[in-house]
Amino acid sequence: MPSHQPVAGELTVDPQYVSQPSAMASTAEPNRNSKYDPKKPHITDLPITRQNWYKHVNWLNVFLIVGIPMMGCVAAFWTPLRWQTALWAVIYYFWTGLGITAGYHRLWAHKSYSAALPLKIFLAAVGGGAVEGSIRWWSRDHRAHHRYTDTQKDPYSVRKGLMYSHIGWMVMKQNPKRIGRTDITDLNEDAVVVWQHRHYLKVVFFMGLIFPTLVAGLGWGDWVGGFIYGGILRIFFVQQATFCVNSLAHWLGDQPFDDRNSPRDHVVTALVTLGEGYHNFHHEFPSDYRNAIQWHQYDPTKWCIWLWSKLGLAYNLKQFRSNEIEKGRVQQLQKKLDQKRAKLDWGVPLDQLPVIEWDDYVEQVSNGRGLIAVAGVVHDVTDFINEHPGGRSLIKSGLGKDVTAMFNGGVYLHSNAAHNLLSTMRVGVIRGGCEVEIWKRAQRENKDVQHVKDDAGNPIIRAGNQITKVQQPIVSASAA
Ligand SMILES: [Zn+2]
Ligand SMILES: [Zn+2]
Repeated sequence: MPSHQPVAGELTVDPQYVSQPSAMASTAEPNRNSKYDPKKPHITDLPITRQNWYKHVNWLNVFLIVGIPMMGCVAAFWTPLRWQTALWAVIYYFWTGLGITAGYHRLWAHKSYSAALPLKIFLAAVGGGAVEGSIRWWSRDHRAHHRYTDTQKDPYSVRKGLMYSHIGWMVMKQNPKRIGRTDITDLNEDAVVVWQHRHYLKVVFFMGLIFPTLVAGLGWGDWVGGFIYGGILRIFFVQQATFCVNSLAHWLGDQPFDDRNSPRDHVVTALVTLGEGYHNFHHEFPSDYRNAIQWHQYDPTKWCIWLWSKLGLAYNLKQFRSNEIEKGRVQQLQKKLDQKRAKLDWGVPLDQLPVIEWDDYVEQVSNGRGLIAVAGVVHDVTDFINEHPGGRSLIKSGLGKDVTAMFNGGVYLHSNAAHNLLSTMRVGVIRGGCEVEIWKRAQRENKDVQHVKDDAGNPIIRAGNQITKVQQPIVSASAA
């Protein structure tokens, strides 16, 4: 057993990290119901039935994220949309969206950069205007999401369904016992975070509804439009857009860095979420201030953070070295390559082929079987004789002989593709047949054999490394 493997009963982790309290969040944590009693069964411990389904629903959240937007849609029928208000609603959509992506997410949840106080206040304010909970509550759940991705302790696990990860986790009650623990001591020491959490309702009402109404009302006299379009409907759109980070970003797209979990990269998600769409990258490198690493990929959140750093408002922007990023990409490519390789026919593995005596081989050919021996491996080319690109007569002349030299340059230096094709026709190994027999004996004796296998134990046959390939071209007597 390698020395780094723990033996039974031995802890792999430093005991100080093991002796954490249970995974259950304490009642003092944000978003915990103060009436919650961990000793009593929680409603989510009971199955949903016709009698109790309404008890499973978080009605306050239903009202906030479904009820109010519906009222807004109805009210919009009677409210003409002025172009100034439309423009303002779009601008404020971006500000409040940035509050979540650049503020809540990249600054506070992941600490991917540091911000000067004025920028922190701005992000805490406009982030509050997106109506998605306080920084403290949001970041706590988001850290749990990263730590326990796709498990029962992931607050918005996509494994429970796309709709659950988008909105279901908010409109249905969650079992406090099942939300994974995370460390938010840094947030508890951040005065802006603590202030915003303490005054959250005031922040939400002012930044979510009153401020956009004031701007449109005082600016161009459109009080109702400011309230409906800049307030309610803008909240609805910014909420749905940022919810897509939990749903769409775990469902749509590629996995260039790791495919063991659900996060994915897709340009559509990036367009919807102000650049949070390169989520496979983000889960691998969460403290990188970027989500998109290519200049042409859409990540306005990254551009804003970069711009703020030029203005002296943001600093200490964290970035993983491209060496680290490329290692992850190469390993994932390798994994995909292994899966692709495993699906191909590389011929019967050498160690599973029967061993044939030379005399048997010759006799079978004289009985009409089209066999040729190359490098000690016997191939049945009966069905291939008529298709041989070099003609029937050449291949027929090799039947029953050792054509290693002919095949490897004596008559024609066969292509890599020819060696690959030949390997699919192999049927046996000649006793005493050069490398193969040696290799087989070595494996029987459990000696170290120089051959490469992928993670699943499948042999990797590289171009030019086929057993039939003799590296030094053999010049046969007839060709000399
Ligand atoms: Zn995620
Ligand atoms: Zn994140």
